[in-house]
Amino acid sequence: MLRECNEHGYFRADYCPVCGSEGRFLMNTEELDRMSRTMAGVLRHFPERFELKMDEQGFVDLREFVNALQMKQRRYHWVRPHHIVAIIETDSKGRYEFRDGKIRATYAHSFEVKLDLPVGGTPDNLYYPTTAEEIDIVLETGLKPSDRKMVHLSRGIGDAVNAGRVRTPDPVIIEVDSRGAAADGIVIQKAGRTVYLTSEIPPKYLKKIEVDLSEFPVEERPKRDEEPGPEEGPKEIPEEEERPPEQELPPDE
Ligand SMILES: [Zn+2]
Repeated sequence: MLRECNEHGYFRADYCPVCGSEGRFLMNTEELDRMSRTMAGVLRHFPERFELKMDEQGFVDLREFVNALQMKQRRYHWVRPHHIVAIIETDSKGRYEFRDGKIRATYAHSFEVKLDLPVGGTPDNLYYPTTAEEIDIVLETGLKPSDRKMVHLSRGIGDAVNAGRVRTPDPVIIEVDSRGAAADGIVIQKAGRTVYLTSEIPPKYLKKIEVDLSEFPVEERPKRDEEPGPEEGPKEIPEEEERPPEQELPPDE
């Protein structure tokens, strides 16, 4: 659940991880899960369903977002701006950003956005999960965006394995010479905490690496804590979880 400690801010637990106080209740785990899915859907895929104006960097006004939620979905009548800020600040992957009264998703958009995220400081290598069936073609043609507008790279091998497991139990991992690519002028932006975005990576920067998958046990994570799929990685197939099921969406009337 999501709570707030007077002294240490928002936290997702029963007790403040710093001082152990119970703090103030903000929302239960189910509400947090629903809200996260709605945020992902609206900010990454369909702001228009909530009649929200989004700027070219993907930001919407937080108050307008909250108003739209309340208008469109009765179940969100209790939501106030600080609930959204609490979700953003406690998101372990940095999926969202809150700045100057506006909010946005930091990656995984299905439309064009000028994210204008930080570049530079990119690790020497980044990772990309694919499948045994696709590895050869990827190594031959390079990495290109599919349903998303950008190629999503993972910071660590484990991040890529987790991202890849959404599509296949045994992902094949590609190592990207991100340092070399950046040195050659390819722009790589840092999005979430473990996610980097780029428009394309040519084959010469890619190589397959052998990964002992048993070193990365399948995360046994309660679905309610894990909103949408594997945003930390790229994929060809849109995640069901990432797009709220129809009944989660505002009525079309
Ligand atoms: Zn505390």
